[in-house]
Amino acid sequence: MAVARNYDLTDVCPRSISVTETSASTADLVILGGGSGGYACALRAAQLGLSVVLVEKDKLGGTCLHRGCIPTKALLQAAEVADAARDGHKFGVKTALEGIDMGGVNKYKDGVVAKMFKGLQGLVSSRGIRYVEGTGKFVAPDTVDVDGQRYTGHSIVLATGSYAKSLPDLEIGGRFITSDQALNLDFVPDRVVVLGGGVIGVEFASVWRSFGAEVTVVEALPRLVPAEDDFCSKQLERAFRRRGITFKTGVRFTGATQSASGVTVSLESGEQLEADLLLIAVGRGPNTAEAGYAEASLAMDRGFVLTDERLRTNLPGVYALGDIVPGLQLAHRGFAQGIFLAEDIAGRTPAPIDEDGIPRVTYCEPQVASVGLTETLAKDRHGDIETIIYDLAGNGRSQILQTRGAIKLVRAKNGPVVGVHMVGDRVGELIGEAQLIVNWEAYPEDVAALVHAHPTQNEALGEAHLALAGKPLHAHG
Ligand SMILES: Cc1cc2nc3c(=O)[nH]c(=O)nc-3n(C[C@H](O)[C@H](O)[C@H](O)COP(=O)(O)OP(=O)(O)OC[C@H]3O[C@@H](n4cnc5c(N)ncnc54)[C@H](O)[C@@H]3O)c2cc1C
Repeated sequence: MAVARNYDLTDVCPRSISVTETSASTADLVILGGGSGGYACALRAAQLGLSVVLVEKDKLGGTCLHRGCIPTKALLQAAEVADAARDGHKFGVKTALEGIDMGGVNKYKDGVVAKMFKGLQGLVSSRGIRYVEGTGKFVAPDTVDVDGQRYTGHSIVLATGSYAKSLPDLEIGGRFITSDQALNLDFVPDRVVVLGGGVIGVEFASVWRSFGAEVTVVEALPRLVPAEDDFCSKQLERAFRRRGITFKTGVRFTGATQSASGVTVSLESGEQLEADLLLIAVGRGPNTAEAGYAEASLAMDRGFVLTDERLRTNLPGVYALGDIVPGLQLAHRGFAQGIFLAEDIAGRTPAPIDEDGIPRVTYCEPQVASVGLTETLAKDRHGDIETIIYDLAGNGRSQILQTRGAIKLVRAKNGPVVGVHMVGDRVGELIGEAQLIVNWEAYPEDVAALVHAHPTQNEALGEAHLALAGKPLHAHG
């Protein structure tokens, strides 16, 4: 997605750096927040010979490892196993889903997280990074205070991440939960209302449906996954209907109450929904209110830290990355920004990150994966465009998997492919090729000339490009 950079900071230059010995409180680089962005920055900076202090108040690895990407994908994996057990008969295999043991699911999920956490801790300590546990406060452009101990850095990177937002008058607690609580439920609810049809909302809707719950998603915008090309929304909505996931789009939530026995959710339409739980998945806000940013006169907008494309804030020597900077809130964006900043601060001159080229995957069933511009954005940007939709019905591997879905390509007229949008089982695994196509500005003819292994789902990408290059093979009509 294009990110509006409404703050011009190009005249602010990073201070020149010198590699110094780490002393008790001084380093080349002090990083506030040890999530995806912060720790990636620390690892790369240490690799480049900088002395690094990394301050973290909770657990190294942040949201992604402990409350985000990894645990949700473990739940989705368990959900896939449940679906496979339920659907064995479709493949002539006699299986039955006896039930979901949430104790077992959580043990598996927590085991994955624990293993990765241990690995990450080992990595950080082996690189000589000074890891400081505690709540840091940004008290001056070169200083972070942690419980009275001051850490001074030639450069400071702010990487304090995000939190699950709620709505006014909707206090989290009891049966009103966010993804933080949803990840640790010890039971499968019979009925759930999911408020918000974005990535996090549809992923949990998918898990709970696979585990046997009745799920209703409520989304104020006219479609599910509204940040995606509307082709993806249509495909996903069709699949959710087939799966028996109810969704109500274009309708506003007006309130909710909870009692000992359940929740009642009210919609603007007058409808009331009864459920065991209400998952509030209305987006994530930046963690910037309590870290001293405003007091230090850091330029911000609605709580987000403003930077230029080199991630420089308005304060010399102070940088920001990850979920606190406007743009896609994704772990791999944070990793990339962390690496970028470490290299930039170390005096290398890495190219700024192209936000349009960042891949996006929603891991519900079926998956939604995309990179580059939606059709609407491509029209705004390029004027004349061409699109093609390739149905996975023509792809052998997708038929073997028994999945439906499609791939949509968007190209600038007679130009390169500027957007790839995919829906179907496992299409997230195709995003690697898709991102090379878009980021290397390949023409459909370039991709059409490449041989794709048979039978793979990647072949569907190849076929879509054959079709866009004017020589469709396994395509009807
Ligand atoms: C349910 C869910 C699923 C997700 N799934 C995916 C996915 O599949 N793929 C994907 O790419 N992204 C996913 N994300 C998003 C991803 O987790 C975030 O984009 C990513 O973690 C942001 O990294 P960050 O470094 O900016 O912040 P965070 O990971 O939030 O890290 C910030 C760290 O700073 C620490 N901190 C904050 N304030 C202070 C302070 N004052 N002093 C010291 N430490 C402080 C916090 O404790 C935290 O550890 C998901 C998020 C959620 C919630």
